Amino acid sequence: MEMDMGMGRVRTALITGGSRGIGAACARSLTKAGYRIIINYDRSDDAAEKLASELGCSTVRADVSDPDQVGRMFGEIGNVDILVCCAGVALSKLFTDTSHEEWRRVLAVNLDGTAYCCQAAIPHMVHEKDGRIITVSSIWGVTGASCETAYSASKAGVIGLTKALAKELGPSGITVNCIAPGVIDTDMNASLPPETLKELANETPLCRIGTPEEVAAAVRFLASEEAAFITGQVLGVTGGFVI
Ligand code: NAP
Repeated sequence: MEMDMGMGRVRTALITGGSRGIGAACARSLTKAGYRIIINYDRSDDAAEKLASELGCSTVRADVSDPDQVGRMFGEIGNVDILVCCAGVALSKLFTDTSHEEWRRVLAVNLDGTAYCCQAAIPHMVHEKDGRIITVSSIWGVTGASCETAYSASKAGVIGLTKALAKELGPSGITVNCIAPGVIDTDMNASLPPETLKELANETPLCRIGTPEEVAAAVRFLASEEAAFITGQVLGVTGGFVI
């Protein structure tokens, strides 16, 4: 069990975008590690409730792109010791075909949503002089992807936010790290043609795409006591796709 060393207290982890995919795998993995989990989601009520009854944890609905909903969510759930910002949306189209509304939506969920959740979680962590923030970027936030400009820009922003917060919050005993997954087998890639997924696997040194559980294992490590001296880092979980 991940207990607070001084008080023998079970630590609470909020996972945004925890209803499906990588977030759901994080919820399972952190539950196994002994944390008290709260699953945030936006639209997938059934998936969130099913997972919550499997894990015996609670759920909270909020669109992370809306600061009022994020404020209400934290009002409802109270303080968290670990924040995993997994909520995200993708958009695949030419930059010149991307509407202002599409651009805003991707930036609002992926970057603003991460920032709003961090802002709401930090005061308690500063008070405790302890806390873990784990953001989720993407290899495309590191390298940029053709026809995914809004997504790449949002994920590059998440990396900048992570590094700046690590510097700002280090003196308060809070670590802030980022996971940059490669191509992972979730709904987000479900619309890709099988040939494209095969090509991506072939371009990967480990010759396959990754699983949500493999990303969750990295999140679990960064949340653990063993990662206490790691902050401001971007950890690629890519099968070597970007080296
Ligand atoms: P996914 O299967 O599509 O799941 C996305 C999750 O985000 C869902 O739980 C969804 O909840 C939630 N979400 C979306 N918009 C939200 C909002 N406005 N407020 C709250 N929750 C919201 O995607 P995934 O592959 O697991 O991706 C998880 C994270 O990893 C994302 O940040 C993604 O960009 C990143 N990532 C994924 C890959 C990949 O290859 N799959 C690679 C690199 C990075 P609802 O359905 O309930 O709305």
